[in-house]
Amino acid sequence: MATYYDQNTVLFLDGAYVKAAEAKVDLYGQTLHYGYGVFEGIRSYRTADGETKIFKAVEHYERLRRSAEALNLPYPYSTEKLIDATYQVLAYNNLQDAYIRPLVYAPANMSFNKNTASHIMIAVWEMGLFLGDKLLRVMTSPFQRPNPHGFKIEAKATGHYVNSILASQDAKAKGYDEALLTDMNGYVAEGPGANMFFEKNGRLYTPPLGNILPGITRATVLELCGEMNIPVEEKHIRPDELKQADAAFFCGTAAEIVGWESLDDTRFPLRWEDTLGRQLQVAYKQKVTEATRTEADMLAAG
Ligand code: PMP
Repeated sequence: MATYYDQNTVLFLDGAYVKAAEAKVDLYGQTLHYGYGVFEGIRSYRTADGETKIFKAVEHYERLRRSAEALNLPYPYSTEKLIDATYQVLAYNNLQDAYIRPLVYAPANMSFNKNTASHIMIAVWEMGLFLGDKLLRVMTSPFQRPNPHGFKIEAKATGHYVNSILASQDAKAKGYDEALLTDMNGYVAEGPGANMFFEKNGRLYTPPLGNILPGITRATVLELCGEMNIPVEEKHIRPDELKQADAAFFCGTAAEIVGWESLDDTRFPLRWEDTLGRQLQVAYKQKVTEATRTEADMLAAG
């Protein structure tokens, strides 16, 4: 098992900075029993000028707020204060390249009733920039994404990840690197923890919002396509259409941009180095580590 903390690790819990090893959770909590909580997955990077920068911090904490609201979890937190707290936690733990995990969870409550309070914790651990040189062998999963009529699929809710875990473990048990899930209509949706794009004849395609998590990396890829004049289209994609693609990739905060070698053992014909995905991977890396201070600031600082 991975180690996320040691005796010295500090996390943020309900307004205080506490030792991770000493922090306690209530075993009667509604989140633990029913998977009813919301969370985020964020990254910070050491930038080109040596500073620590949380990538798209506002976007992530605003999504956390919307996730909590979608589930009726009390959310009395300000994005600004949580971003400040996150920088503090990073500093306490001496981390620059890190994964950041905020979790909003419910108090002791064995009923299904609404809560009058909630808890928030923010944990961080080291995670280096992913180089993305290994391509993934992807398998179309027999598991579909949760039905949006049964779940608030646009929320990053803890319970949704039972679906992700089932799909991912199944793909790995069958000898693949990762699963690709369809939606309830059989269209391509996303991976267990990442959105997807495919390339065909010099254009990119990605599933529309509605049956997927609205990924912040997906939005960043769409922005980069605009800046780089890469034609991109959101549309419903059939799994058999995807097998005819020239190339494909997953994108997400943890995965960043990672190319696919094959889908269900059908290899994609383009070499990864020659794909639009590779160009975006380079641009993405540049964007997340871009200096926060301008050249003028640097000059002023000497
Ligand atoms: N889909 C799912 C199911 C995810 O868990 C994630 C990771 N949060 C993503 C997509 C990618 O989202 P983001 O780019 O915001 O990390």
